[in-house]
Amino acid sequence: MYTLQDIAELLSLRGEEAQALRRKAHQTKLREIGDKVYLRGLIELSNRCAKDCFYCGIRRSNSCVNRYTLTPGEVLQAADFAHKAGFGSIVLQSGERQDEAFVSLVEQLVRDIMKQSGGELGITLSLGEQSEETYRRWYDAGAIRYLLRIETSNPALYARLHPADHRFEERADCLNRLRRIGYYVGSGIMIGLPFQSTEQVARDLLFLRDSGVDMVGMGPYLEHEQTPLWEYRHLIPQKEERYELNLNALAVLRLLMPKINIAATTAMGTLKSKGRQEALYTAANVIMPNITPMEHRKDYFLYQNKICINDAVQDSLDNISQVIQEAGGKISLFEQGNPLR
Ligand code: SAM
Repeated sequence: MYTLQDIAELLSLRGEEAQALRRKAHQTKLREIGDKVYLRGLIELSNRCAKDCFYCGIRRSNSCVNRYTLTPGEVLQAADFAHKAGFGSIVLQSGERQDEAFVSLVEQLVRDIMKQSGGELGITLSLGEQSEETYRRWYDAGAIRYLLRIETSNPALYARLHPADHRFEERADCLNRLRRIGYYVGSGIMIGLPFQSTEQVARDLLFLRDSGVDMVGMGPYLEHEQTPLWEYRHLIPQKEERYELNLNALAVLRLLMPKINIAATTAMGTLKSKGRQEALYTAANVIMPNITPMEHRKDYFLYQNKICINDAVQDSLDNISQVIQEAGGKISLFEQGNPLR
């Protein structure tokens, strides 16, 4: 049993001790869930957002963003590509909207993707905070997994990262709603935020463990000039330090939750060119190649230097296979790769 103190110490390891921690996590992963890596084709449905999170490039108040919503035809084409290429699953992610037009658009898209793929494609949604009724409509349409990061488990830090009407309690309650309905639930945090201590990251890892999530996506916080947090960039750890902390956090998470699905995030690949490989080696068993139509990728600009925006090759099946191979994993095709419960 790891205490808060143990975890904080593990997160602070560097050099050979950190390598040993990551090897231990790697061995745990192999023993508990094997070396398969599952693919989730990421479709960035829309960058229109009703929220105004202080860290996010597509926040409502960023007037420099060229707003788009994919057409149903574009989404179905991307999903069909994923299905035929053997991705097993897709993720529909978007800026957040609660209006009926958006809710029914998603509902219909989920139905159509299910129909088009003969139910073979696993559908994950990552569409933010919604009412229980909305979550249920999307579940009844065929979505089985939902990703909603808590971002931080500390309500006071959450309040510093969001406007007053974005409430930590509401976000946490959304995770309960999703669980009640029967989704596989994913959550996660950002690491290296201004005002965030290493001890806080340790608390976040315990929060994730205690909330019993099935999947985790956690990655580095990355700056964006057109957001309010930019002003505090001097308070965030240097890139190398943020990277080391992230890898240690992934390792500890794998030790705490040996059987869950963990994603190698795009943000890790942005922070360092081998970031996704190292995340996969250490703890992750899921990767999310971007399959958004190329002309819209530059507009889903959450943070600076985001990879896979101009380079179709970076997230091509060949390159993803190579990334997985370099990490010592085996690519899994034509399997949904649902989390083990
Ligand atoms: N609006 C939905 C939500 O909040 O769950 C889905 C889209 S949101 C853009 C997806 C994730 O992007 C967030 O959960 C957040 O962790 C991540 N994100 C946003 N801005 C970021 C940044 N500057 N650095 C790293 N991750 C960021």
